[in-house]
Amino acid sequence: MLKGLLSPDSCAQCRLCCVFDRYDVWETPVFTPELRERILAARPETEFIARDGGYMLRVREFDSEGLFSCPALTSTGCMLGDDKPFDCRIWPYRIMEVGGRRAVTIASICEELYRRPLSELVGFLKNGLAEEIFRYADAHPEIVKPYYEGYPVLMFEKK
Ligand code: SF4
Repeated sequence: MLKGLLSPDSCAQCRLCCVFDRYDVWETPVFTPELRERILAARPETEFIARDGGYMLRVREFDSEGLFSCPALTSTGCMLGDDKPFDCRIWPYRIMEVGGRRAVTIASICEELYRRPLSELVGFLKNGLAEEIFRYADAHPEIVKPYYEGYPVLMFEKK
């Protein structure tokens, strides 16, 4: 979905968005029932928490480095391929509720995108991505996260 903006190579080498620590564990993606089944088939020990129509990962413990890897992450990348959750397809863009309105924000942890000019980041949203994000969120409100301090707001939803 961000192919015009992020190269698959830079994502494949990074994987930062698939590994979480205790400060950003709230960022784990929301899975559809179908994706939950696919992960359970490969990693039956995975635990989920139902959230509205979707499923979030239940994170019980972190490894010795204080990290939790998404159970869909394999040595060759995400086992879900192009079917990965919508959250992951738009990352580092996020959709959040900011003061009662939905808005697209950006995670600063993605260095590749965060160092781009603001005009490029907003321009990509204006080119159809924002519309797609808000439309998806209409059908899947569970992907809208509460506003998290430090995430720059790039675009509010039009009223
Ligand atoms: S579902 Fe795939 S892309 Fe998303 S966090 Fe997990 S491994 Fe990464």
